[in-house]
Amino acid sequence: VFPGSEDAAGQRATLGVLGGGQLGRMFVHAAQRLGYFTAVLEPDAQSPAGRVSHHHIRTDYNDPAGLAQLAQLCQAITTEFENVPAQALQTLALTRPVAPGAAVVGIAQNRIEEKALFAACADLSGVSCAPYAVIETPAQLQAVQNDRPDLLPGILKTTRLGYDGKGQVRVKTAIELAAAWAELGSAACVLEKMLPLTAECSVLVARGWDGQVVSFAPQRNVHVDGILAVTHAYEGNMPPDLANRAREAAVSLAQHIGYVGVLCVEFFVVDDGSEHGGLVVNEMAPRPHNSGHYTLDACDVSQFDLQVRAMAGLPLPPPRQHSPAIMLNLLGEVWFDGSGQLREPDWPSVLSLPGTHLHLYGKLHARAGRKMGHLTITGPDVARVKTVARRAADLLG
Ligand code: ADP
Ligand code: MG
Repeated sequence: VFPGSEDAAGQRATLGVLGGGQLGRMFVHAAQRLGYFTAVLEPDAQSPAGRVSHHHIRTDYNDPAGLAQLAQLCQAITTEFENVPAQALQTLALTRPVAPGAAVVGIAQNRIEEKALFAACADLSGVSCAPYAVIETPAQLQAVQNDRPDLLPGILKTTRLGYDGKGQVRVKTAIELAAAWAELGSAACVLEKMLPLTAECSVLVARGWDGQVVSFAPQRNVHVDGILAVTHAYEGNMPPDLANRAREAAVSLAQHIGYVGVLCVEFFVVDDGSEHGGLVVNEMAPRPHNSGHYTLDACDVSQFDLQVRAMAGLPLPPPRQHSPAIMLNLLGEVWFDGSGQLREPDWPSVLSLPGTHLHLYGKLHARAGRKMGHLTITGPDVARVKTVARRAADLLG
């Protein structure tokens, strides 16, 4: 699908996305910059992506008429929201190229299948996931309580619909485990051993229909209360041997599953007594990722540019980072002062700092934990980026 082209009926080349959040918005921006028209399927009338797209189809993700309209408008379709029903992608794939495909999105939506995939890839990628057990029945709970003391203390995670630390309970004892499973509605879960993390990082990979694959260097991520707070993207952000292994593991995973589109793989760095620690694969997201937002301002092609290129069958040149960067997530808390009153953040002061790139997603109401925007700081060297990031964080604190 060439950018800016028209078909016989005079219709402009159009790319579609399922989901209307900020990831969809930044995808739409990237597609439009290349001259594509865009279509967003998203029920929310005020959605960040819907408001900036040429077409906004306002139906549920699995509404047959909405999906038919999306397929009719678009030459290729992607997703921005990993809990979009895999069935919807399957329906669209009957008539249009869809990247990533329903099968891999289905795996990423299910922690049990995701862990099974990681385990199957461990030999190939050289990286395994945390020790875990599946708990779907009272008998399995009992068995874990009796036979897997090695998994405690641990984290009980629901198999489906978890994000930003939601659907997770930390447990220390077999009794707490039983209570936590009840608290999570006795839903299908995995119990994961609590690992001594020294750092977290993620790798973004883009792979085309022809198997061409490119990746970004790993970025180091700091989470607060289960939500990404800060991403450090510069040389020296982590030991080079770990960075290389993470990058190779993510690429081999994308190749192994024949992935098409942008894939983010998250890793833990674990204190295992070795000099730099060991690498453990945590989870994957079948789409651009919050930890890759710095690529918009610090790289010659961004993760969203690569998403557009991959789905449209355009060339995938290796991305080059031209500036060190730190990304600060702007959660709803930034819009409230110490006494809980709504306030407008001091943007003039933030924007007067050199190398600050403000991205607001156009969401109408700030709520605690809600991702409202992000601020990327770039600069000529790491020291100056860190200084400006500290000042910006103070202003927003
Ligand atoms: P989510 O889908 O909410 O992102 P994750 O599985 O990535 O769920 O967990 C969220 C965060 O919780 C991680 O980024 C990490 O900080 C912490 N965490 C998750 N699993 C473990 C573990 N096994 N050991 C230690 N910390 C963990
Ligand atoms: Mg995560």
